[in-house]
Amino acid sequence: MNFFRFLLTISCIFCISAYSQESKKITLIPKQISSSVWYVEGVTALGSVENKNFISNAAFIVGPDGIVVVDALGSPALAESLITAIGKVSQKKIKAVIVTHYHADHIYGLHAFQKIGAKIIAHPAAKEYLNSETAKQRLSVSRAELAPWVDENTNLVEANVWLSNQTTLNLAGLDLVVKPVGPAHTPEDLVIFFPKEKVLFTGDLLFRGRLPFIGSTANTGPWIDALNAFLDFKAAIAVPGHGSVSENAVEDIELLRDYLTYLRTTMGKAVQDLDLFDEAYAATNWNRFANIPMFQFANRMNAYNTYLQLLDASK
Ligand SMILES: [Zn+2]
Repeated sequence: MNFFRFLLTISCIFCISAYSQESKKITLIPKQISSSVWYVEGVTALGSVENKNFISNAAFIVGPDGIVVVDALGSPALAESLITAIGKVSQKKIKAVIVTHYHADHIYGLHAFQKIGAKIIAHPAAKEYLNSETAKQRLSVSRAELAPWVDENTNLVEANVWLSNQTTLNLAGLDLVVKPVGPAHTPEDLVIFFPKEKVLFTGDLLFRGRLPFIGSTANTGPWIDALNAFLDFKAAIAVPGHGSVSENAVEDIELLRDYLTYLRTTMGKAVQDLDLFDEAYAATNWNRFANIPMFQFANRMNAYNTYLQLLDASK
């Protein structure tokens, strides 16, 4: 290789790496939802290279002495963009990140917050997931499928503070109630309530404006308990883990609670009467929920999974 070709190759390598750094920049525009709270809303989709794994929400509260973030988004690049976006709202230091649960789309950005010295707070039941083969495999699949957004720089990050009981934390001059409500969506579910502005951060326990998907491992009994616990907070605004913010928090929480309760009541009766699922499903009046988005896609499967869980529990 002659000298000029060598120079050209070297400069191209630099230009590619400069380009990939540049192309990893994502602009997030936070939306203000109360005097001190902002959030960013991910798209409703599965994680992909196209959507940069921006499929979940994150929020932040600007306090007198700093900033507290709820959830870290689904990649280091997204988290860095969130840090930049926060910096445009307030120059105060980001003191802490509270993790609602350790699912990939909420935690792959944690490393970026750790790097700037933010304290990470989560429920200790997450340790089991963090030390599991599942977590490692999930990360390596994500590194392959979501590159360059999730790559070798994406790591699983442990919390600095593990909270196992309901606690009122004073962080950044803010009083925040942190309450464990798992195992419901995950064993380590935490919800955060900011009483001063009546804002509740629900993680993935509240789906708004659509029916949830109830997977075969969902725990609808404790999920209903968690929703009832949410109602005790009498929140005005609820920030879910996915989808838009609810400004009728009580109504939205009640609707989901009633739906889960209805599934358990109707399918529970079918199990008790030894009815076949198909017959029980056809005989059930679904009118109250039939107009909610995703009903056509989700309801039958939700009913079926509830039926199977209750059948299993009855054995
Ligand atoms: Zn999620």
